[in-house]
Parts: sequence; C-alpha cells; structure tokens
Amino acid sequence: MVSLSDIKQFFRGYIGINEPMAKYTSMRVGGPADYYLEPADKADLVEIVKYFQSNKFPYIMVGRGSNILVSDKGIRGAVINIEAALPHVRLEGDLVVAEAGITLAKFVDFCVQQGLAGVEMLAGIPGSMGGAIVMNAGAHGGEISDHLVEVEVFRNGRVQKIPKLEAGFAYRTSAFGGDIVLSASFRLPKGNKEELLNKRRELILKRNTTQPLQLPNSGSMFKNPPGHFAARLIEQAGLKGKRVGNAQISEKHANFIVNLGGAKASDVLTLIDLARRTVHQNTGILLELEVKLVGFPEDVPSQVA
Ligand SMILES: Cc1cc2nc3c(=O)[nH]c(=O)nc-3n(C[C@H](O)[C@H](O)[C@H](O)COP(=O)(O)OP(=O)(O)OC[C@H]3O[C@@H](n4cnc5c(N)ncnc54)[C@H](O)[C@@H]3O)c2cc1C
Repeated sequence: MVSLSDIKQFFRGYIGINEPMAKYTSMRVGGPADYYLEPADKADLVEIVKYFQSNKFPYIMVGRGSNILVSDKGIRGAVINIEAALPHVRLEGDLVVAEAGITLAKFVDFCVQQGLAGVEMLAGIPGSMGGAIVMNAGAHGGEISDHLVEVEVFRNGRVQKIPKLEAGFAYRTSAFGGDIVLSASFRLPKGNKEELLNKRRELILKRNTTQPLQLPNSGSMFKNPPGHFAARLIEQAGLKGKRVGNAQISEKHANFIVNLGGAKASDVLTLIDLARRTVHQNTGILLELEVKLVGFPEDVPSQVA
C-alpha cells in the first residue's frame, strides 16, 4: 500500500488528491485521479516511480493530455505529469536534446530559431515531447521519429538510451508504452530560418481553418486506415454534426469530437462507437482509435478500439 504521508517524506513536487483529470486533458473531460503528481525534477520522478513500482501501485504518465480520453469515473492509482520536471531543450554538439516535458511548440520554435529543419511540420500539435514520442506524432507526411537518434527512458528500474531502430516506431505508435520517456535526441538538417518560419506560420494557419480549435477536443479520434481518411469515411456516413449529450462530431472536421461544454466521457465514447459501427456497416472498414482510453473498464477498449 502507498500512503500520502510516506510520499510526502521524500517527494518534492506537487501532489493532488482526487484531482479532476478534466483540468489536464485537452478534451476537458475525465473524473478524478486518486493521486496526481508533478515531480520537481528527474531525481524526484525516478524516486516516485520506484516507490510505486516497489508497492505495485498503478500509475500512468501524462503529458499535455491531448491524446487521451479519461473516463468519467477517473483513474484509480496515480497520474504523473513531468512537464515541470523536464521542460528543457538544448544543443549538444550536433544533436538537439529535448526533455520529455517540453511542449512541441517550444521544441519546434527552438529548432526553427537555430535554422534546423525537419520538425517544422509538427507546429500546431498541442502535445509534449514525451507524448509525441510515445505516439510517434506526425503531420503533413512527417513524423517526430524521422530525424530522431535515440530516446532516454526509465525502464526496468534504470535510465537507459534506446536507439531509434529499437523504438518500434510506426504510424502513431512506438514501443514505449510501458516506459517513462525522459528525453529525445535529434540530428536535424540545416534549413533556411526565414523559410522555416514561413512554413510554420502557414501550417498553423491551415490548422486554424480546417480544425475546430475553438472547442475542447483531442485531435483526430481515429487513425487513417490505409488508403483512406477517417474524417471522410465518417462524413460519408452522415455523422458530421451528430451530437450525444454535449459531445459532438465536429461540423468542421469529422474526425474530431468536440466538447460543447460539460460533455461526459461516456458521451464521447457513444459517438466513437457510433462512428465505428456506421463506417464498418457502410464500408467494411474498422476504424482504429488513435486516442488512448484511460480509466475505463478493461473490456471497453476492445469494444471500441
Ligand atoms: C487540436 C489537436 C491537434 C492534433 N494534431 C495532431 C497531429 O497533427 N498529429 C498527431 O500525431 N497528433 C495530433 N494530436 C494529438 C496529440 O497532440 C499528440 O498525440 C501528442 O503528441 C500527444 O502528446 P501529449 O503530451 O498530449 O500526450 P498525452 O495525451 O498526455 O499522452 C499520450 C500517451 O503518451 C503517454 N505519455 C505521455 N508522456 C509520456 C512520457 N513522458 N513517458 C511515457 N509515456 C508518456 C501517455 O500515457 C499516453 O499513453 C492533436 C491533438 C489536438 C488536441
């Protein structure tokens, strides 16, 4: 068993009890986490993870919460957020080393300001480096793993460096599911700073016109099936604008579900299920969830994902 008094004896960061996860997800839904922890630094993070592991207490990592759907009942166990502990990016020789807590926006800005290319297509993705590595985030034909050299993780009780070839990167997935991502190193080609700034501006503008960014959402709910666009399949199924409770399949982009205000995770899940069933009936294509379900009963992911 773990206890708050034990944790307080060594932990130096922020501790929240019964913390509503809606505060920490871009969809703004999700019930309370038993413990919500923001370690003060890397040593604090390693200590708390070792403590949970030795007590067999469940924990999960979150970054910016922009690719998770947390259940209305919340999360039994602990949620660890490392934004405060690992927020830096730096140059080390010819490598850019980005800690897992930095936002992609700051990472892209750092690279562009250095005149380094190859990551500008990530501009506008509202995640952290840790979440982006786990998800192998990407856009406009590029992925975060393209120029990656290695990832530093906490695995099997120690800090280790995993070379790109052992990282299992594929479309919106990696082999880092059970690890804690601490940092990532990139070797980026040189680019023209002005051109990179323009490209970044252009891509952000494009997102503003094509995505429903004025309402809380989790980005694309489903992966694009090979040769298809999930948004088009959902739109062709006649589901654009479909509403359940205060969740809605966006009128602007059918692969986004938006929170119109006070939506429940169960409403979002109903829409996910409806989209999957209808598209499957119409086309035989089974949409696969891109967003990760957290805090739901074991069998829910297999019903909808
Ligand atoms: C408006 C909008 C647009 C988006 N556009 C895109 C896009 O174009 N392309 C794209 O790929 N994605 C997109 N996304 C999805 C999302 O932003 C990315 O997947 C992002 O990389 C997730 O990062 P995060 O920090 O929010 O991760 P979270 O949602 O917090 O977590 C995602 C997963 O990573 C794990 N995780 C997080 N941090 C760590 C860590 N340090 N160590 C181990 N595990 C960790 C979590 O446990 C979870 O399983 C979009 C989302 C929104 C809301």
